[in-house]
Order: sequence, then structure tokens, then C-alpha cells
Amino acid sequence: MSEASKVEKVIIVGSGPAGWTAAIYAARADLNPLVFAGRPKRDPETIMPGGQLMLTTDVENYPGFPEGITGPAMMSRFEQQGVRFGTRIVTDDGFNPDVSNPDDGHSYSYHDCRRVDLSQRPFVVYGEDDTEYRTHALIIATGATANWLGLENEGRLARSGGGVSACAVCDGALPTFRNKELAVVGGGDSAVEEASYLTKFASKVYMIHRRDELRASKIMAQRAMDNPKMEILWNKIVIDVLGDDMISGVKLKDTKTGDESTLPLGGLFLGIGHTPATAFLEGQLELDEKGYIKLKDPYRAHTSVEGVFGAGDCVDKVYRQAITAAGMGCKAAIDAEHWLSEKGLA
Ligand code: NAP
Repeated sequence: MSEASKVEKVIIVGSGPAGWTAAIYAARADLNPLVFAGRPKRDPETIMPGGQLMLTTDVENYPGFPEGITGPAMMSRFEQQGVRFGTRIVTDDGFNPDVSNPDDGHSYSYHDCRRVDLSQRPFVVYGEDDTEYRTHALIIATGATANWLGLENEGRLARSGGGVSACAVCDGALPTFRNKELAVVGGGDSAVEEASYLTKFASKVYMIHRRDELRASKIMAQRAMDNPKMEILWNKIVIDVLGDDMISGVKLKDTKTGDESTLPLGGLFLGIGHTPATAFLEGQLELDEKGYIKLKDPYRAHTSVEGVFGAGDCVDKVYRQAITAAGMGCKAAIDAEHWLSEKGLA
């Protein structure tokens, strides 16, 4: 049967904790899910199979892993669990994922979903080369990417675990950051939250902000100003990250005077916002002004289009944790299963 003539019960787009958890639950509910895991791009900071955890070294806050686990190994385990119960993944070689190398992440031959047509039922999901797949239900779990400054050394040290990260809650408690002087870039609520969190471990935390006023809400801003371990460096941008294997500091430029200076650091965290990977959905279902998928009820996974469910960081701009994304993936699969049953399509 060709892809075009077969109708799937559920297609899942995305392969972070939300996507794989949705796959595990959907597979165990006998929905035989099909996953578009995403193709790695040349720029590793964009969406890739496994999502943002592929850019994380040790994950120490996911329950059940008391010794910690690397992000890629964790995502590989999620994937294997989904495949074990009958999840199929679209790859270069058909629906035959290579999950034989569990700790090495992915085979990297997975396919992207390029666009969807939600005006037709069954929905049409377009794979690579515009191959059409049809599905009754669709779970979107494409995640979000942390915004980066785009500096060469920033990317290099982030990829190698060299003390640059875009998630203080994920990485801040690692031994490498203990009792060090750290910095967070940004002036919004996330930056303040991340900087406050880091003061638990660091000897001092700088916030590097490009203006002379925080964007963060008043209460959060006051918290930053009142924290004796925190110092805000106003009107400063980072123009380079210093260090070979491990960050040693940053080069700053004053946005008012143009003066350049060096700030020695043991770690740098980016708190300059996230971009949800939902551009391919524009005009198809309701997104908020920043592109996050709007849910009809915040406790459920239903979106503005009946039969389409959202999960993980493409929906959630507040928590953004592997555990919360996994929980949302579970909810999306259960909601999809109930919806399919109600419609007699399960
Ligand atoms: P945000 O509000 O968009 O703030 C991003 C910050 O990064 C801004 O201060 C911005 O500077 C700065 N920035 C952006 N690009 C930059 C660049 N290239 N170089 C230097 N600085 C740059 O993002 P967010 O803080 O992640 O918050 C997103 C949403 O989630 C907000 O609605 C926020 O209120 C909410 N949130 C709430 C909580 C909470 O209530 N506990 C926690 C986290 C997030 P400018 O100010 O100059 O634009």
C-alpha cells in the first residue's frame, strides 16, 4: 500500500521527550504510531532528532536516573522504548529505524515533516520530497530552540560541554559550575530565574543585559537587584567567549560607550528566549504571538483543530523541562486515543 493511500491512526512530529513519550503511549494503545523524528541540520543549535537534550551533557534531574545520564543516551532509551511497542519511524530506509547503538544516539537518517495540511481529513503530512502521509490524528511535539548569540566560540563550547549552556536548571548544578563566578545573558524573566537558580551553586552570578532596564516583571527584577550574590552588568553585550576546552571568560562591549572589557567566568548561560519550532504550522492552527501552539484547555492537549494535539516545548514556554515535556507527550497520546475512540477511528 502506498503512503498516500494508507491512513495512519496517529502521526507524531518531533522526537524529544514529548514526542517519544507520546509514541510509547500511543504504541501501547495499539495505535501503531508513525514518527517524523526530524533530520539534523548543519547548524546543531536547530531542531534535531532527540531535540534539545542532544545538546545537553549530563541530565541529573530526571527521576529514575540517580547516577545521571547523558541527554543523547536518554533520548535513545526513550526511542527504543517506543520502538519496542511498535512505533515506526520514517527513515531513509523506510520504517526501519536503526536503534542498535543505544548509547550513540540516532542513526541520523530520520526524516523531517516539511508541512501539513489540516484543512483536509484525514490530515495530510508532507515528508521529505513532498511524500504524502495521511493520518486521522496528529501530535505535534517539535519543541523549541533556545536562542543563542551566534558566536563561534559560544557554539563550540556549548556542544563540547565546555561551560556554556542555554539551560541553568538542566546544567547549573553540575560540579563544574560549583563555587565559580557565572554569568547569564538576558534581562527577561527567564534570565532572572536562571540567575537566581545559579546563585545556589555559584560564588557570584552576573547578569549581562544589553539595556539599562530589565524586561523581567517587576517582582522578578526586584529579586535580582536584592540578591547579594547577583550583579547586573548594564548596557553590555557579549562579543566573544574565551577559553579552549573550558570557558575562561567573555569579552564584553558597552552598548553606550563602545568600551570593551574582559570578564573572567567559570560558566556562561544564555537566557535570551526560545523560539518554538512551529513555523510549518502557521495558518493551520492557532499559535500565540510568539508562535507557541495554543491549547484549548491548559490541562489537556487539544489544539484549535480537532484531532491535532500539542505537547512539549512547542506548547510550553514556562517549564521547558524533559520531565514536563514527557508528561505532556503522555497526555497528548491519551487525548488522541480517546478522540480516535470517540470517532470510531481507533
Ligand atoms: P523574553 O521575555 O523575550 O526576554 C529575552 C531577554 O533576552 C530580553 O531581556 C532581551 O533583551 C534579551 N535578548 C534577546 N536577544 C538578545 C541578544 N541577541 N543579545 C542580548 N540580549 C538579548 O524571554 P524569556 O525571558 O525567555 O521569557 C519568555 C516568556 O516567558 C515571557 O513572557 C516571560 O514573562 C515568561 N516567563 C515567565 C517566568 C515566570 O513568570 N516565572 C519565567 C520564565 C519566563 P531586551 O530586553 O533588550 O529585548
